[in-house]
Amino acid sequence: MSGAIERGEFCPKCKNYIPRFLALNEIEVKALRAMRPADAIKELRRKTGCEIVTAKIWVVHPTGPHPARIRPPCPYCGELLFSEKSKQCLKCGWDWHNPEKPIRHSTKSLNETARIAKKKLRWQRIWRARVLKGIAIGEKAIAEGRVLSHEEAKKKLKRWLT
Ligand SMILES: [Zn+2]
Ligand SMILES: [Zn+2]
Repeated sequence: MSGAIERGEFCPKCKNYIPRFLALNEIEVKALRAMRPADAIKELRRKTGCEIVTAKIWVVHPTGPHPARIRPPCPYCGELLFSEKSKQCLKCGWDWHNPEKPIRHSTKSLNETARIAKKKLRWQRIWRARVLKGIAIGEKAIAEGRVLSHEEAKKKLKRWLT
């Protein structure tokens, strides 16, 4: 069965339109929402024949669009802060982690902090890519039968030892 997909609400956070599956009734939607994400994606695709991306977008929005990030203005200079939880302003350098004793960083030290954060992020990305590659190689080896089971390894070792 394949049903029409309608472009639903726009999610400003992930910049996607949440699809609406016209062929699904309320009971089916409820059942899908109760499933684990991976299962829901599979089932949704089986039911509607939609693309995996479409199914994913639908699954990650169980209650409509993601709430937008609230960015209050800096109390010192009015620049929009990074998030609601921000306790410092990158524009003017004021830092009110301790509200009793706000301090002002020099823009030089702010730039340095930003530079370090960027570098750390870059390394995290490289590291993650390496780990993923390692996993992929391991999976390939298993798929090709190049990895010995524990029992096989023990047998082989015994032959060497005796
Ligand atoms: Zn979203
Ligand atoms: Zn500011």
